[in-house]
Amino acid sequence: MWYMNEERELLRKMVQNFTEKEVKPFVKEMEEHKTFPREIVRKAGEVGIIGLTYPESYGGSGEDYINAALAIEEIAKESNTAAVCVLLQMHLCVRWLHDYGTPEQKDKILRKIIAGDAIWAGALCEPVGGGNWFAYNTKAVLDNDEWVINGSKIFCTNAGQADYYAVLCITCEPNPVEGRGTTLIMVPKDAPGFKVGHIERKMGWHGSATGQIYFNNCRVPKVNALGPIDMGYYACTSSSSNGTILFGAACLGSAEGVYERTVKYCKEREHVGKSLFDSYQVVRNKLAEMLVEIEAYRVFIYGICETLNMGMDATPQLVAAKIKGARLFQSIASDAMELHGSNGTIVECDIERFLRDAMMNFFGGGIPSVLVDNLTYFI
Ligand SMILES: Cc1cc2nc3c(=O)[nH]c(=O)nc-3n(C[C@H](O)[C@H](O)[C@H](O)COP(=O)(O)OP(=O)(O)OC[C@H]3O[C@@H](n4cnc5c(N)ncnc54)[C@H](O)[C@@H]3O)c2cc1C
Repeated sequence: MWYMNEERELLRKMVQNFTEKEVKPFVKEMEEHKTFPREIVRKAGEVGIIGLTYPESYGGSGEDYINAALAIEEIAKESNTAAVCVLLQMHLCVRWLHDYGTPEQKDKILRKIIAGDAIWAGALCEPVGGGNWFAYNTKAVLDNDEWVINGSKIFCTNAGQADYYAVLCITCEPNPVEGRGTTLIMVPKDAPGFKVGHIERKMGWHGSATGQIYFNNCRVPKVNALGPIDMGYYACTSSSSNGTILFGAACLGSAEGVYERTVKYCKEREHVGKSLFDSYQVVRNKLAEMLVEIEAYRVFIYGICETLNMGMDATPQLVAAKIKGARLFQSIASDAMELHGSNGTIVECDIERFLRDAMMNFFGGGIPSVLVDNLTYFI
């Protein structure tokens, strides 16, 4: 492909080895016991995968979205969950710390995240609705040099696993028209008044913890505010949007992983002396159609990565890639299950795991109907 070169081929091989050695043996543990893949994240830091999106000054290797997408694509061929757990440390909510943290905070915390030694979480969603930001009930008020936070968050990824939580709090009378009313505040897991609540049982992304967190007169230093006071809405959205491409790379990789397993199955499974592949035109055509979708999406994803590498804005394309990625992965996994016949429904077969994880991509990181609504602003 046009974006590959010798250096990127080496990177891909390194991540393939990493996936074989660290990710593959842990898939069953994540699936059956919902264990958070802390060691996978730590080792992803150790071998430099997390650092692919961060500057060298904090231990990264420079901001190259193609390299980052390549790494996530490879991990996702084996496990969409592991890919998501790693990519969440590479960009998105961590970007708030990268963009708005003080040099001291970045030196202390961002370094650890890049090394895989600390876990970060972004806590926005509340029972009033994930996107209903200005109706949130979690409030923070300043008391001399400290924020005092009261309230709770739901559906927080990495709840109970994270060392730091970036929490969107109401800090003044909300004014949705001006985007005023919220501030992002960093809360360490050992802050007084902070508590982790119920961890949800989900249909997919087993191993990625999603749960409730509580703040009861929780106190953190004033300097823990990330970004402009009362304008957290803008801080959140503008800072993290480029990271969306990594969800796309994860969907691409998992769709490929499913496709490769399905080709193998169709060539090995015998029907009256011939493989499914050799027996039925409809099977061959379905595989070819899957390939069309995957290859078209690959070009889309890496084109966006190159645009970002050039420092250009790709906001509508990023939104489209998030929508298309979830749909692609879901449709490939669904077709794969059909081609596997009843075997596809068996847990040991892997395909049902990918299909469940595909569905999670419709929710985590942005819901397609909400994103489509966002896209209409570009029309
Ligand atoms: C696995 C998982 C992990 C998550 N991780 C996090 C996390 O780390 N941090 C966090 O803060 N949140 C997280 N969330 C929550 C997620 O961001 C919210 O679920 C999402 O914002 C939607 O909010 P809601 O579920 O309250 O749906 P609601 O706001 O109740 O919306 C329901 C439906 O209404 C429609 N709708 C709502 N708003 C609009 C709109 N503006 N335009 C068009 N249609 C609309 C959509 O179809 C939507 O699905 C996670 C969710 C899941 C499932």
